[in-house]
This record gives sequence, C-alpha cells and structure tokens, in this order.
Amino acid sequence: MPHYKVAIVGAGPSGYFAAQALQNLVTEDLTFAIDMIERLPTPWGLVRSGVAPDHPKIKTVAKVFEKIASDSNFRLFGNIELGKELSLADLTNKYDAVIMATGSAIGKKLGIPGEELNNSISAAEFVPWYNGHPDFAEFKIDLSGKVAVVIGAGNVAMDCARMLAVNPAELDETDTADHALEAMHKSNIRKVFITGRRGAEFASFTAPELRDLPKLEHTDVYISQDALALAYKNAEAKGEIEKHLASNLEAMKLITETPKQGHERSLEFLFSHTPKEILGNEKVEAIVYSTPSGDVTIPCDLVITAIGYESEAIPGIIFEKGKIANIDGRVIGSNIYAVGWAKRGPSGVIGTNKSDAAEVISLLVSDLKEPKNNGDVTDLINTSHKIVDQEYWARINQAEISAGEARGKPRVKAVSVSELLRLGQP
Ligand SMILES: Cc1cc2nc3c(=O)[nH]c(=O)nc-3n(C[C@H](O)[C@H](O)[C@H](O)COP(=O)(O)OP(=O)(O)OC[C@H]3O[C@@H](n4cnc5c(N)ncnc54)[C@H](O)[C@@H]3O)c2cc1C
Repeated sequence: MPHYKVAIVGAGPSGYFAAQALQNLVTEDLTFAIDMIERLPTPWGLVRSGVAPDHPKIKTVAKVFEKIASDSNFRLFGNIELGKELSLADLTNKYDAVIMATGSAIGKKLGIPGEELNNSISAAEFVPWYNGHPDFAEFKIDLSGKVAVVIGAGNVAMDCARMLAVNPAELDETDTADHALEAMHKSNIRKVFITGRRGAEFASFTAPELRDLPKLEHTDVYISQDALALAYKNAEAKGEIEKHLASNLEAMKLITETPKQGHERSLEFLFSHTPKEILGNEKVEAIVYSTPSGDVTIPCDLVITAIGYESEAIPGIIFEKGKIANIDGRVIGSNIYAVGWAKRGPSGVIGTNKSDAAEVISLLVSDLKEPKNNGDVTDLINTSHKIVDQEYWARINQAEISAGEARGKPRVKAVSVSELLRLGQP
C-alpha cells in the first residue's frame, strides 16, 4: 500500500491545516508520514506571534493544532530552519511532497520620504515585539512621546492602534511579553490616530473587531460623523450595500454614537488620508498627509506602518509579488506546494487557511506517483543540533502555562531561543 512522506515547512495555521487535510485522506490504501519543520522552538506561527494578546479566544485554535500533532503519523521538528539547517533540495529529494507554509513576515514599505527616521517602524516589528517573538526581543521602540500614528485600514493596523491606546492595566492578565508590558506601563502615548488612504467604505477592518472598540474601558474612540456619512453616500451610490460593508459601517456608526467619557486616552480614525512624508530630525516629529481638502500635518512621536506583508526569500524558491510563485498552490515543475500566506499573500483569517490547504492537498495527492524510499529529515540534521520535537515543545508549553498560572495569565512567554530550549529540557 502506498505510504508517502510529506514535509511541511512552517508550523503556522496553514501548515497544521495542510497536515489535517492529509490526515483526513488516510485510508487503508493510502497513508502519510508528516514531518513539520519550524524555524522557532515554538509552533503555531502567527497564532502565537501575531494574534493580539487581548484576543485570547482566537488563540484557542491552538487546541486544534495540538490534536493534529498528536496523531502517530505526525512529527514536529522545531528549531530547524529551511535555508539554514536544511536546504530545499534536501527535502525535495527525500520527501514525496514538500509543502511551504512559511507565511509572510516582512512589512511592506510606504516608499515615502522620512520613512527611515527613528521611531518610524512596521507592524511587522511592533507586533512580534509585544508578542514575544525571539527575533524581536531586543527591538527598540520609544514610547516617551504623546502621539502615535498607525497607517493602514485593516485589522493588523487596528491591533497596533488598540495595543497602544488601551490602559496597559487591561493587558496585565494577557500573554503580552513582559518586556512590552513593562514598556507599555511606562508609555506616555495618549493619542493614537489610525489612518486609511481611502474612504471608510473601503476599509478592510472587520465588524467584530470594530464593535469591540466602544467597549474599551479607558479609551475614547472617535470616527467623524462626516466621514461616515460620506462612506454611506458613496456606498449607496453604487447600489445595494453588500453585507460585509453594511455590518462594517454599522459598527462604525456604533463608535460615532457611543458617548465619549473624556478619557485621557483616545483612538481616532482618519479616512481619505494618504501619507506623503514623515518629518523629523533623526526621529519622527510629524507626518504629512494629502487629503481631499489639502495637505494636513499631524505632529506625532511614533509612526507604525501596517499596510501588508511579503514573504522572506528562501533559497531555491521563486517569489513573485511577495509570495511564492505558484498556480493554485502548485510550484510548477517540482514536488513543492504552497499554502497559507506564502501562497496567497497576507490575506484571510485563520480559518481561511483551512479550506485553502484542503484544496492544495487534493491537488498534491492527485500528483503523487511511486513513493520515495530515501530517508527523511533525521538523516539530514547534525546530531549536535537541538531539535524541538512534540514532547520537547509540550514541556516548553507547560512551563509557560505554569508560569502564567502563578501570575493570573494564560502563559508567560519565554522570549529567547536559549530560554525556550532551557524550559523544554527533559
Ligand atoms: C498581527 C496579526 C494579527 C492577526 N490576528 C488574527 C485574528 O485575530 N484572527 C484571525 O483569524 N486571523 C488573524 N491573523 C491572520 C492569521 O494569523 C493568518 O491567517 C495565519 O497565521 C496565516 O498562517 P500561515 O501558516 O500561512 O503563516 P504563519 O502563521 O506566519 O506561519 C508561518 C510559520 O512558518 C515559519 N517559517 C517561516 N520561514 C521558515 C523557514 N525558512 N523554515 C522553517 N520555518 C519557517 C514561521 O516561523 C511561522 O511559524 C492575524 C495576522 C497578523 C499578522
């Protein structure tokens, strides 16, 4: 009976959903050995290092991932980076199929003057910093000023803005990294603008996230009545308002109607603001926007750009427009496939990756030929290199959760590779 070996590179949602789709196809006549390779000692991708700490419910999807990992046909190889400990050719030679689930982690740039000034940063740095990603533990952000501007009209921009605008005490019982929580407690930021290039009708926020904002206990949230009225007018001019947009506008209306409490902290949405230039002498001092009524300058101390992501280069893989060059997930002329953000670019929620991975796996299975009999990843890795397998990860996970219990948090994250590896020692 055919038994195929499949390597999945990247332990984020799309990697796990690809594994699950393979597991769902197992029959008496078709089986798979699934090896998942992850560069960090921790799995779960952006569920650990992207999803906002004040949205713990979203992170419960990790239970699904752990169930997938508990199957006897699944092995985790954490702390192994493709391009460092392993080459792509190593994997394509040994495995019947290689699935790239490596996501997209580099923040897109605006390409405007002043973007290189100190304290002009990307959401791709700010988010992993507050979420304890080991690559960003030493990242420097200056929160001594009063005003922050977040550029972008999607949920990542909203997460960044909300994390800056809330009273940090609201984050004390979350898994925000300790270094970030400490910096947020000392932060002087009191006014946060979130700005979109186009009108509110084009914003890609989602309604549940917008509806959460009026519930913030220590922050007043503003959207101008005029901007909202214009958005309704423009949307209605195109005919019947589509459901997703209607609920977004409804959620924005709720924000405009919520009485303001006169809090010291505020979060304000500005639409039809196209960033033109960031001003400052070494460090950010202001940002200039072009708007329908002329240029507007907003004095500010921090600028965070959240306008999308692109994939990091991996030797041997062709990237096009920030994602792996692929047709429906197939990397043409190879036994390589792409899923998730590496395949589609940075769009879609966690669940989007499930149906997407299932479609790619059905193509992959239809391409399979004679199984290879050529060993696996264990033949490739230097024996002195520490591999984080499922048991090792389980010990890291438990140690973080136990540290969290003592402090009333879901977990306390270790933020360096060496500390993570120490926590998982048998
Ligand atoms: C800030 C932010 C907040 C979000 N919040 C939500 C939310 O609240 N709800 C929601 O539904 N969705 C949310 N999303 C979207 C969701 O996180 C994505 O849809 C999902 O994570 C994409 O999954 P992925 O597996 O393609 O990529 P990722 O989650 O990025 O996983 C990629 C994995 O590959 C690993 N990797 C990369 N390169 C290599 C290599 N060379 N070798 C080995 N491993 C490698 C990475 O370390 C990572 O673990 C959010 C996204 C962001 C950026």
